[in-house]
Amino acid sequence: MEEMRLQKAIADSGYTSRRKAEDLIKGGRVKVNGKTVSELGSKVVDSDKIEVDGVPLETEEKVYILYYKPGGEISAVEDDRQRRTVTDAFQQMDVRLYPVGRLDYDTSGILLLTNDGEFTQYMTHPKYEMSKTYRVKVDGVLKREQQKMMREGVRLDDGLTSPAKLKVVRDKNNKNMILELTIHEGRNRQVRRMFEHFGLNVVKLTRINYDFLTLDGLSEGEYRFLKPHEVKKLI
Ligand code: URA
Repeated sequence: MEEMRLQKAIADSGYTSRRKAEDLIKGGRVKVNGKTVSELGSKVVDSDKIEVDGVPLETEEKVYILYYKPGGEISAVEDDRQRRTVTDAFQQMDVRLYPVGRLDYDTSGILLLTNDGEFTQYMTHPKYEMSKTYRVKVDGVLKREQQKMMREGVRLDDGLTSPAKLKVVRDKNNKNMILELTIHEGRNRQVRRMFEHFGLNVVKLTRINYDFLTLDGLSEGEYRFLKPHEVKKLI
């Protein structure tokens, strides 16, 4: 195994966050192969024995979860306003799960959760942004020429969006419309902002695809573990 920083090895084990691991090291509470290490720069390899407060670090088994997030949950581990978070449903599980990226509080659909920090970094890195499809219900109608503009790119506050796929699913009564939008980027509130650009309010937003993953077999609030071949296919 390649060398890695001691604080990363502690964080990757699921013991605590990287920031808190740094505090443990600086506080002289970490030993490597029986010797206290209080310098942040030191590196370790797999065979090194790490102890925190004299207790050997256990390496947590990696888990990867596909969660059908319902609306009304924060994509974080904790919320300072005590709202329900996406990790609340997993309290009984003996692992420290983190969401892979974010969905807005009101957005439902596919959210991956894992204790594998490297996987999260990879999946959310702008260079490898996965394709994500959203089913969008809007209050009003996106006209044909606006649909074309949305496919080609929309100028938002933070720049032009990349080309997107857009399919109209329902356009019956001229009052509202259901569309499916596939994007590769993951900017904050991107889908809502793309529709707001045309003066349309998103009334329901569901992420129905994440790369090749779908919501098949799940209802809101349910989850399943990804299979090893699915994890491999993603990275
Ligand atoms: N785009 C949004 O506007 N919100 C989400 O939750 C995800 C994508």
